[in-house]
Order: sequence, then C-alpha cells, then structure tokens
Amino acid sequence: MDINEMLEFDRKHIWHPYTSMTNPLPVYPVKEARGCKLVLYDGRELIDGMASWWAVIHGYNNPILNEAIVDQLNKMAHVMFGGITHEPAVLLAKKLIEITPSGLDKVFFCCSGSVSVEVAIKMAFQYWISKGKKEKSKLLTVLKGYHGDTFGAMAVCDPINGMHEVFTHVLPKHFFAPEPKISFYDEWNKEDISKLKHILEEHNNEIAAVILEPICQGAGGMRFYHPQYLKELRSLCDEYNILLIFDEIATGFGRTGELFASFHAGITPDIMCVGKALTGGYMSFGATLCTEEVAITISEGPTGVFMHGPTFMGNPLACAVSLKSIELLLSMDWKKKIKRMESIFLSERDMFLKLKGVKDVRALGSIFVVETERSVNVPKAQRFFVKKGVWIRPFLNLIYIMPPYVIDDVEIKRLLDAIFEVLKKDEY
Ligand SMILES: *Cc1c(COP(=O)(O)O)cnc(C)c1O
Repeated sequence: MDINEMLEFDRKHIWHPYTSMTNPLPVYPVKEARGCKLVLYDGRELIDGMASWWAVIHGYNNPILNEAIVDQLNKMAHVMFGGITHEPAVLLAKKLIEITPSGLDKVFFCCSGSVSVEVAIKMAFQYWISKGKKEKSKLLTVLKGYHGDTFGAMAVCDPINGMHEVFTHVLPKHFFAPEPKISFYDEWNKEDISKLKHILEEHNNEIAAVILEPICQGAGGMRFYHPQYLKELRSLCDEYNILLIFDEIATGFGRTGELFASFHAGITPDIMCVGKALTGGYMSFGATLCTEEVAITISEGPTGVFMHGPTFMGNPLACAVSLKSIELLLSMDWKKKIKRMESIFLSERDMFLKLKGVKDVRALGSIFVVETERSVNVPKAQRFFVKKGVWIRPFLNLIYIMPPYVIDDVEIKRLLDAIFEVLKKDEY
C-alpha cells in the first residue's frame, strides 16, 4: 500500500489510544520489528525504549517465541474453553502457579489486563456474597493508581489525575487512600499507611478488597514505593478481614528486579492479576490467580460457580507463547540483566537531576523515569526522539523507558542520551 494513502486513511478512520478523531496526534508507520528495534517504512531503525508498554520483554520477532506460536498454530489456533481443555492451558497454569507467590494456585485465563482486573474485582465481590456479606460491596485503593480502561477498572484508577475523570459521575464510588509516599529507597515510616488504616477501621464492613499495584505505580505516575507498605497492608487486610488484590500487570515477569513485585515484600495477595509481558508482548492475554480459600468460598456459595467466561478464554496460541516466554525468561540470568540496567540508570541519575526543568529522576529494575516540571509536548518530543533513532513516548510530565530485556548497554546509552538531549535542548 502507498504509504501516504495508508497514513491518510488511518488519520481519517482509525482511533489510536487517547486521541481525537478530528485532531489526531501524528503516528509513525512501522513496517517490522526485530530485537529491540522498530523499522519504519522509510527504512529508519528506532531503538525501542517502551517494550510496547511493558510487554515485549524478549524483543520483537523472537525466533523461539515465533516457533512456539507456529507449532501451536499448526495444531489449533483456538478452541472454546467451556467444556474443553488443552495442554497449553494446563502447562501455563502449572508454570504460573509455580512462579507466582506461594498460595496462589487457582488460575482464571482472560483476554487482557483490564479484563483480568474485572475478574479480580468480581471474584472479591462474589467471595463476600458467598460468605453472606453482600454489604461488602466497595473497594479501597490508593490515589495515583492505574488498573485499565474498562468500567470496573476505571473506578479504581486515580479519580483526579487519572485519564477517566470525565466518567466519575457514572462510575461506582469506592474508597481512596492517599498514594504511598515513602519511596522504595527511603526510610520507612508508619505514617505512610495511617490514612489507609483509618479508612479500614471505619469502613471495613463495606469493603470487599483493597486493590493496588505493588511497588510500582505505572500509568498513574511511574512511582516506586516502599515494600514495608505492602507488608503492613497485608496484616491490616488480615486484621480487618478484607481481601488483598495485587495488579501485577505492569510489574510482573521481572520488570522491577523481582519476578513479581510482591516478592520485594515477601507476601502473597489473595488475588493477583497478570497481563502485558505474560505473552512476551506477542498478543493480548491476561490471567487472574487466587488462593484456594477464595476459589473454594466462591464455589461453595449460593451460585456455586464463578460468573465469568470470555469467548477467547484460555486461547491456545496465547497460552503456548506465554509458556515459552516464561521458560525463556527463567532460562536467562534475568536478575543480573535487570540489575545491570538498574545500575546504569542509577549511575546517570545525578547528571539528569542537574538539568533545568527536571523535577525528579528515579529508577527501579529496568524502569527509568524523568519527571519534568512542565508537561511534555508529546508530538514535539517524539519528533526529536525519532530523529535521534529512538522510540520513547512520554505522557503528562513523564519521560520514561522500560526497554525489552534483550537491549544491550550501547543501546541503553543511546536511549539515555536521547532523553538527556531532549531535556537539554528544550525539545519537549
Ligand atoms: C496496562 C495495565 C492494565 C490494563 O491492561 P490492558 O491489557 O491494557 O487492558 C491494568 N493494570 C495495570 C497496572 C496496567 O499497567
């Protein structure tokens, strides 16, 4: 297809994430992608700093993942999960149970991260219905969170800075505690969780579950908080008889330096969501894991079943590629690789902090974040980045990267140099 014709049609007819149809942001046509490089139609190659939103951990066009899909494709691309099971689903569930925090041993497969959050929320409500406590019909979360774009998930996204402020009037009202403020690297102080504790004391009869992103708040502000917060939260939930849901959709599969962010705190939630890097970024997929206690209570309640079952539940292609992606991750020295990325990021921190207009610079695992004082002009910054041969997509006042794990030191340096220059030359 002629490239101009393609872009013209796209501009007129296709929605892109968070864009206007009458005044769309520019898009860059990608022809193919290999390793950690995106190839544009004009032949330019861009080093990818985004891993397609936390997902593509093993790089694009990975021969091992490709093979897993092709092998499965030649057996069956899809089959319904109602009344049927298959090996890819069983092997993947087994692997997920093995690598996630101990105690999570029931698996619900679904079609995306947002849906896995919907499923988690529904599990929590159905758990309390089964216990005869229908009045526990609210959730408690923290500000600056992000859990997806569907309605149940939106209702626990940050109500002010979140992207869903416009829907507040139609969303169910939940409880919000202040966001955890003590950073991952600072000294713990109990004050950080006192407001949340207060809400639990006051409203535990109405609250079914606490839901939050462990350690790293992603799309709500790219913030890293103290593991002790989660330990205390676990005890509070036990004390007040409330379920704990971890949304590990962004943090899962090594991103923060532990296989799952829960491991920083050494605790197990009652329900946990995974997605994004689950398939190695190959396709949309998600899973919600829960404890035996949650599963048995729901199953022995008045309905006797869990009320959810998406059409493409347990899709064999997605299961096969997810299993292979996890095997590939475990077969490499991923911890060392992520540590290496983290140490490069931390060693550059001071240099960035000296730049004018920079408010904060932080890193955890394979995530590097520059917070600027003013919001970023995204099209302007992206034009500059593409000219420099890198793919970085800022939002609000955050310029950040979380590259595929296959990236090498030279490529990381090129990403950091591009960010440094965009700030220094005021190209944002
Ligand atoms: C991306 C994300 C989601 C939503 O996942 P989708 O696959 O986009 O539906 C939910 N929670 C967190 C923490 C995320 O980062």
